[in-house]
Amino acid sequence: MSQFAEAIIAWQRTHGRHDLPWQRTRDPYAIWLSEIMLQQTQVATVIPYYRRFRERFPDISSLAQADINEVLRLWSGLGYYSRARNLHAAAKQIVERHGGVFPRRLADIEALPGIGRSTAAAIAGFAYGARAAILDGNVKRVLARHFAVEGYPGERAVEQKLWALAESLLPARDIEAYIQGSMDLGATICLSKRPHCNRCPVASTCAAYAQNRVHELPTPRPRKTLPTRETHMAVLLHGDEVLLQRRPAVGIWGGLWCLPEAEDEGEIRRSAERLYGCEIRDVQRLAVLRHSFTHFHLLITPVLVQVRKARPRAAQPGVMWLPMDEALGAALPTPVKRILRALGGSTGRQQAALFQETVQDL
Ligand code: SF4
Repeated sequence: MSQFAEAIIAWQRTHGRHDLPWQRTRDPYAIWLSEIMLQQTQVATVIPYYRRFRERFPDISSLAQADINEVLRLWSGLGYYSRARNLHAAAKQIVERHGGVFPRRLADIEALPGIGRSTAAAIAGFAYGARAAILDGNVKRVLARHFAVEGYPGERAVEQKLWALAESLLPARDIEAYIQGSMDLGATICLSKRPHCNRCPVASTCAAYAQNRVHELPTPRPRKTLPTRETHMAVLLHGDEVLLQRRPAVGIWGGLWCLPEAEDEGEIRRSAERLYGCEIRDVQRLAVLRHSFTHFHLLITPVLVQVRKARPRAAQPGVMWLPMDEALGAALPTPVKRILRALGGSTGRQQAALFQETVQDL
């Protein structure tokens, strides 16, 4: 076994994490759910979401039968909503193609929606003891530093080099401890900023540490400025009720409930009157909220429209008026939730300062 793997396994046994809600189980559903939730998301954030999700959907069949709205509602706030949609689609696929039993073969696991090579390997390793390499963002960082791999890991050639390394380091036994240890090392010791090299189990063989290049590796993504887009969102408020509109299934925030979007204030007034049959009492522009996606920044100008009278609630597909409390419990994108929270119980002007923040989502 490589010295690297041996050190990681020994360290995991004494210093790694053992008591997370999805550990100490071989249930592939529990492991799969946790692996998906943990993508791009920290353990502490995931735990309450994971518990709520498991309570409502204790197994694959309950998830497969669920309404996607409910799945998205339980995911609301965790971000990267395509993960929830894929999870739901994969559960259905498991029922249809695998008789409701989570597949064992790596190729079958990887064929499920939303499961990439590294996640498939982690699930197969934890659930079945399969010996396959993982390479998530944390592991890429550890390997790039420890073996001084040059180049941005998002580039294909660099990634391939890292995969080859990851494969070559796989131990013949204790695969679960090795996978967990690699993940834990990246998440708790080999941090992207200020890593704890003095507590690292592989420091004695780490090239970046020896060469004093820890902060240069992995090579950062070549800089390019992200484009900025702008939009307006209408907060139509009638008494205590707010109007929400369902997003199309495809595209950003697909299938979530959102505030109606518009080019400008004029369009908001027009659609409030013509589309939603509102008699407007007052219109107030609120402070701009900046929301960052992976590929662009979005500047959102919320426009509060106080409504005197609204058209009787004839069924309008994809649109609903909800009391503010209930609206906050719906499947909403993070910035919409922030806008509504800021408005709840106070005026937009007072709460405008709350909007001066950047949030990350996909
Ligand atoms: S010594 Fe430092 S840079 Fe090297 S693997 Fe350990 S924590 Fe990471």
